[in-house]
Amino acid sequence: MTTKHVDVMVVTPHPDDAEFGVAGTVARWTREGKDVIYVVCTNGDKGTSDPNMKPEELTRIREEEQLTAAKLLGVKEVIFLRHPDQSLEDTPEFRKEIVRLIRMYKPYTVVTADPYRRYIWHRDHRITSQVTLDAIFPYARDHLAYPDLLEEGLEPHKVREVLLWGSEEPNYRVDVTDTFDVKIAALRCHKSQIGGNPSSDMEERMRERYRMMAKEEDYELAEAFHRIELWR
Ligand SMILES: [Zn+2]
Repeated sequence: MTTKHVDVMVVTPHPDDAEFGVAGTVARWTREGKDVIYVVCTNGDKGTSDPNMKPEELTRIREEEQLTAAKLLGVKEVIFLRHPDQSLEDTPEFRKEIVRLIRMYKPYTVVTADPYRRYIWHRDHRITSQVTLDAIFPYARDHLAYPDLLEEGLEPHKVREVLLWGSEEPNYRVDVTDTFDVKIAALRCHKSQIGGNPSSDMEERMRERYRMMAKEEDYELAEAFHRIELWR
């Protein structure tokens, strides 16, 4: 099993969540030369209000949209786990899938949704991030956790930093003033989700929110996260 070191692994529940949550920061990182990869947990095949849309067709469309958005942001690789939408569970199998990827790609930073958002929060978001946090600690770290992964050559790995988007307790902000436009462009790749001809409303609302997040800073727009540092 070959392994490689990436700077950042983004674990996203559905195609489009990463763009909403962290795309401005991702674009900043890739401009700085950092390697960023995406892991997309579900196929998003229930994300439509169109009664004529077939789930298989929606899966295909959403993967294409995700690949286009990722390319725009400079993301190096997109891994689709293709779990059915709205069906994620906190299972040993799903956890091991994430541990395997963490050990393969050895990210310094992992970004995912905040699992502890009250009260209404998409179940796939909650489960994705809960499982990802468990995978980081202790399962990816401990060599006895998965002897079979060790046999495959997947050594334990310590993730150093976790960023959670959608947090009610943000403690970390990233300047996305220069990458806000590319974030919006990446969001617009998800036509099946935000409509073919999105109004500038979304952009204006988002700009306003990001301005609020940057209120105490000396720049204009910020994405905000709850940040956890490990193994200092
Ligand atoms: Zn989602």
